[in-house]
Amino acid sequence: MLAKKPLPLQSFLVQVSRRASQLARQRYDVIVVGGGHAGTEAAAAAARVGAETLLVTQKIHTIGALSCNPSLGGVGKGQLVREVDALDGLCGRAGDWAGIHFSILNRRKGPAVWGPRAQLDRQRYREFIQSELLSTPRLTVVEGSVEDLLVTEPNPEEPGRHRVTGIRLANGSQSISASSVVLTTGTFLSGSLFIGQTTSPGGRIGDAPSSAGLSQTLRETLGLRIGRLRTGTPPRIVKDSVDLSLADVMLPDSQPTPFSFLNTHTRCKPEEQLPCHLSYTTPGVDRVVRESLHLNSHIQEDTKGPRYCPSIESRVLRFPGRKHQVWLEPEGVTSDLLYPQGLSMTMPPDMQLRLIREIPAMHRAEIHTPGYGVQYDFVCPTQLSPALQVKRTQGLFLAGQINGTTGYEEAAAQGLWAGVNAARWALSMPTVALSRTESYIGVLIDDLVSRGVTEPYRMFTSRAEFRASLRPDNADLRLSLKGFEEVGCVSSVRYQEAVRVRNSLQEALAALKALALSTSNWRKKLPNVHLSEAKNSTQTGLNLLQYTEVSFEMLASAFPECLSAYMEFSQRLKIEAVYRHHCNLQKKEIERIQREENMSLPQDLDYFSLPVSLSQEVREILDRVRPSTLSAATRLQGITPAAIVHLFNYVNYSGQKERRAHRNQPDQKEAREEEPCSQNVSLPR
Ligand code: FAD
Repeated sequence: MLAKKPLPLQSFLVQVSRRASQLARQRYDVIVVGGGHAGTEAAAAAARVGAETLLVTQKIHTIGALSCNPSLGGVGKGQLVREVDALDGLCGRAGDWAGIHFSILNRRKGPAVWGPRAQLDRQRYREFIQSELLSTPRLTVVEGSVEDLLVTEPNPEEPGRHRVTGIRLANGSQSISASSVVLTTGTFLSGSLFIGQTTSPGGRIGDAPSSAGLSQTLRETLGLRIGRLRTGTPPRIVKDSVDLSLADVMLPDSQPTPFSFLNTHTRCKPEEQLPCHLSYTTPGVDRVVRESLHLNSHIQEDTKGPRYCPSIESRVLRFPGRKHQVWLEPEGVTSDLLYPQGLSMTMPPDMQLRLIREIPAMHRAEIHTPGYGVQYDFVCPTQLSPALQVKRTQGLFLAGQINGTTGYEEAAAQGLWAGVNAARWALSMPTVALSRTESYIGVLIDDLVSRGVTEPYRMFTSRAEFRASLRPDNADLRLSLKGFEEVGCVSSVRYQEAVRVRNSLQEALAALKALALSTSNWRKKLPNVHLSEAKNSTQTGLNLLQYTEVSFEMLASAFPECLSAYMEFSQRLKIEAVYRHHCNLQKKEIERIQREENMSLPQDLDYFSLPVSLSQEVREILDRVRPSTLSAATRLQGITPAAIVHLFNYVNYSGQKERRAHRNQPDQKEAREEEPCSQNVSLPR
């Protein structure tokens, strides 16, 4: 099953602008500001949960635009795409529709850390996202720039706690109210663009930044701490001007692997996929970087840029004389442009041309659009709850680059979760959190809200403690069932499919376990497999499947009567068998964290007067971040294991006291005499 064909772009524009001019409602449950990767997922998720939703974005034709590299997924990021898909988000299906070069990265390592990735056709991706939004019930899309938030004064009983009640469109033209607002303004908040020594206001080339009013309200009225980050993008190169015969050819996988659990194949047939090419920098590139440094304002700034996707200037300065990879990637099936990944740069355009011509395959290349840098404000994400709601402001949710992340996948994942929670908040349902024990999305959000960011944050598999359990192959079982049963963002079609898969896998695993044979009998059944076990030991089919040389197909052809019904799941069963032991080992640790996660820390705790032994520094960190659970507190930088024990004891003690009071037991005296810190409870770390 492949996603339905998207509507042509033109049709989307006509229908959206018609809706915009007829904006009937003046009140919505949820308003999402920004139609980038976070905003589109947020709007679609909020509507799926059941909220009347309005998406307001500066330019409708840029909805779903890939501002930088037209690619999706990769190591760590591919896991996020699969999880967004499992929660019924858009980007996985859009990637399958628009993909032109599919590959699984990290194949030399275990399948838990494989990174599904695809190079995309920009136009097709946008068309798909726009078409999906248009056909989403309860969602209205409007073109416009949000000038400011509508904010009520704090309630005298909750000092400092404002409530967001809607938005005002540019030029004071219209105010629209909503129970919750999701801000997903990306790099547009006080955005400045840099090329050479020229700086101009902008969120992206060709796009104005967000209004100053929005930044001012966040900073001054709502009192949020704001930081500044930067990123950059390479020049786009005219394809015909590049001699690709001088670069290495990189072929896609012979069998494309779809991102979406609903798609059994991609739109692009294996033979229609396009190659990518790999080239390298030369000493001439280093020379041009050095000669242009005094003309390059962006590189001279102190603001932090993306460490893992650095500009060519940063690479040359950090690793002088080193040969750097330059990937020459197609921008689409019919596009005349190439994207030179690895050559993000901000020097003047004439120097950019000199630099690219120092690379053999590009010795006569022409630049279509120069590279540029952008600096922007972000909101320090420790001010958010795990629902991505601003802690001190009711009804305001933030997602995407505004929270200090970089990347489409990180933005999409947060967008989906903020949209879900904004809708639940608006519909008076409790907000929900994802744990780092169940998803990479949980890891991402927990890292942001507990630790904050000091540089643009991107996902890596190494950030997840439970990689063996959080695999790309099982995201549907981890999230689609929960997404339907507990969260409300998953359709019944996807849910039914996940239930079918879960039941089939359980049956197949039971059938494999039931196949218990002695080693000598296994040898007879699988004569080509080298089995070194002791003579009379008995092994199950599931044990056998853990051997590198044993495939599910081999077992199914030896026992067709009980296994052939499950051939469709052969790869998933193999992976399940390989990681079974490891997952069982992790189970205890996961249960411990889940217990700690259930121990919530009251949001109104006065950390400065807690009668426990905490240093001033620890109190300040806890007061600033206000972790929502004990588990989140353990991950804060600067919080010692001893501090966690004291906190545990205190919260545990207060909980007991409260429970006793609730039961109306007359043991108040005993409780008063009890010293919270004196309990000798130690927490495993
Ligand atoms: P965006 O995709 O930026 O979307 C923001 C949306 O909000 C836009 O549609 C905008 O029009 C709209 N908007 C803003 N303000 C308002 C307003 N007041 N009213 C209405 N609408 C508004 N990622 C990487 O992984 N690696 C990279 O190397 C990389 N380089 C990048 C280089 C550049 C120059 C840029 C701009 C981005 C780069 N990215 C990179 C980042 C990637 O594009 C973003 O991380 C991702 O797009 C963020 O998604 P988002 O939804 O948060 O914001």
